[in-house]
Amino acid sequence: MDEEKADLNLNSQPKKAAINDMEDKAPNIEDISNLKKLTDQKFIEIVSGDIVDHIQNDEHLLDTIGKKPGTYYRDLILALIQIHLPEEEAKSDWREILKHKYTVSEKLDRNVGIHVAALDYYTNIKKLLTAPKIVDVHEYMDTASRALIDDLTKAYNRHYFDEEFRRLFNAASTGGKTFSLVMLDLDHFKVFNDLNGHIQGDIALIEAVRILHAVCSKDDTVCRYGGEEFAILLASQPLNLAMKTAENIRQAICDYRFVNEQVLPTKRLCASLGVTTYRTDIMSAQEMLEEADTALYRAKNSGRNRVKAFLSDQVA
Ligand code: GH3
Ligand code: MG
Ligand code: MG
Repeated sequence: MDEEKADLNLNSQPKKAAINDMEDKAPNIEDISNLKKLTDQKFIEIVSGDIVDHIQNDEHLLDTIGKKPGTYYRDLILALIQIHLPEEEAKSDWREILKHKYTVSEKLDRNVGIHVAALDYYTNIKKLLTAPKIVDVHEYMDTASRALIDDLTKAYNRHYFDEEFRRLFNAASTGGKTFSLVMLDLDHFKVFNDLNGHIQGDIALIEAVRILHAVCSKDDTVCRYGGEEFAILLASQPLNLAMKTAENIRQAICDYRFVNEQVLPTKRLCASLGVTTYRTDIMSAQEMLEEADTALYRAKNSGRNRVKAFLSDQVA
């Protein structure tokens, strides 16, 4: 660890909490996965001196947090209180918490752990927390990930989709990579449900998501948008590639033997898909979503079990 990170002799005062900044920045999947690594590896306890251990040579451990420039202290504080603070404020807080830990430890003549020090600091000194609850970190991680995942299918839920879609859209519009959005809706699913029963319908939804995960890559994001409708974010894929992926998905669903699918008039449970790709003339994520919906509507109207692009003239 560099000296700067270990230096405790700073007199910087904690700044006012950026409460407004925190509210729309609840922990996301990446935060939860980082928290799991930090917890498993006891990183915070080691860097705070609660546990005497060496981390200098453990590249993997150091790699866990601060992966993006200027996020080291932000990640430390996030792991301690599950709140995003700007890096400078997090750095100042971390130092204050360490000073507080040593002061209280001296008075009590025993080591006061980093978690207790942070709790006291944020409750009684900085007064950022008003009614903290003590929850075991594993239970917290369970609850936090459940809030982002659809219970039935284990695809990401609508809430996660909204967050990730907005993130990708903003990144693309500020010069980041392009990406595509696929909206998928199972065909005649009401008939499938009515004739086979709700439980069989649920199983088909679970199996459909399994197919989506098998066809998509790990960089893509499969979300249950609602009912029998799914939204898939294809990271870095331009329209031509996205159309191929969507066609692979359509084919895989249509080829799969869902139990009792022969009750359908079409004999097969299939899906219709609408595809659109980020362009600079799309002004908002909402507009892009409407384009994918329009394309899906065209796929339904032209006979179902097919893929349509919003701008079909741009597909090679
Ligand atoms: P279309 O080809 O036009 O999409 O027709 P559809 O029958 O698939 O569409 P519709 O919107 O009429 O019906 C969707 C059905 O999906 C209604 C409901 O029975 C079923 N459905 C939605 N959510 C669930 C679920 O969680 N479990 C089960 N088993 N069925 C669901
Ligand atoms: Mg449907
Ligand atoms: Mg539908």
